[in-house]
Amino acid sequence: MEDDKILMVHGSGGSATGELIDKIFDKEFSNKTLDQMEDSAVVEGAGRIAMTTDSFVVTPAEFRGGDIGRLCVCGTVNDLLMRGATPKYLTCGFILEEGLSIDLLKRVVHSMAETAREAGVEIVAGDTKVVNGHGEIYINTAGVGFVPDDVEISAGRAEVGDAIIVSGTMGDHHAAILSERMEIETDIESDNAPLGDIVRNLLENKIKVHTLRDITRGGLGTVLKELSESAKKTFTIEDELIPVSPKVRDFCGLLGLDPMYMGNEGKLVAFVAAEDEERALEIIRNSKYGSGAVIIGHVTEDSDGRLIARTAIGGERELDVLQGEGLPRIC
Ligand code: MG
Repeated sequence: MEDDKILMVHGSGGSATGELIDKIFDKEFSNKTLDQMEDSAVVEGAGRIAMTTDSFVVTPAEFRGGDIGRLCVCGTVNDLLMRGATPKYLTCGFILEEGLSIDLLKRVVHSMAETAREAGVEIVAGDTKVVNGHGEIYINTAGVGFVPDDVEISAGRAEVGDAIIVSGTMGDHHAAILSERMEIETDIESDNAPLGDIVRNLLENKIKVHTLRDITRGGLGTVLKELSESAKKTFTIEDELIPVSPKVRDFCGLLGLDPMYMGNEGKLVAFVAAEDEERALEIIRNSKYGSGAVIIGHVTEDSDGRLIARTAIGGERELDVLQGEGLPRIC
């Protein structure tokens, strides 16, 4: 009998990815920390330490606005930040296919170093393997951060009344990668960026932040639906408030894509207490990479976890996580 095979759909970040994680990885690796399925694990130690790991397989390795080197630092740093941690250390593992351009590798490593400096982290350990192949590069980065004693930010903490704030426009990274691959002429750039300034400013100003999540694979729709289930709440958002740049909107129109399900690499969604919402919005807007922040809706009631999008003319539709494949190898 033939074994089942891994399919591209398993990497989409949507329902098939969730099933793969449940049935294979979580089944074997399950423990109290991992089962929380947070952006990074907060574990006991000397004080509280946040840890996370991520592998980067984006193709092409260089794209408008970034490259796999910037991406692998931002992705890992952002996952630490989403628990309120201060990112400190990264490790990196390179898997290089025979035939990879050494010039490309130098550019990628340089970009990693620059981005690490920007994000305030040190790369403290690494490893390289070379394998047969077609000249591609893959990078795994693991990250460690420290969590201040008084910070409790997690997926389940959203409360009825909380404002739902996104830090900027949706779909930029996804559109940049897809246009490169399809050789469509556009000047849409990836938004890949470390989000430390936003998180630091929110915490320093004592904003009551309940939940943070970076909006990556699967897009805003997937992230919000998953968070609604963790919090056991209904989130109600306004369709026309979701920020999308005119260029990305045109690109989506051309290809029939929905920006709600397109990934970013430098945007987050924040759930903040009702009394802090206007102040939080101002703080994010005045932070690096947060100038396009918008309040897109609120947590409206207790439930099993529902995501409702209201249209400008008063209609409502219920949204689910991304179904199907999405765009493979976006990060
Ligand atoms: Mg994340």
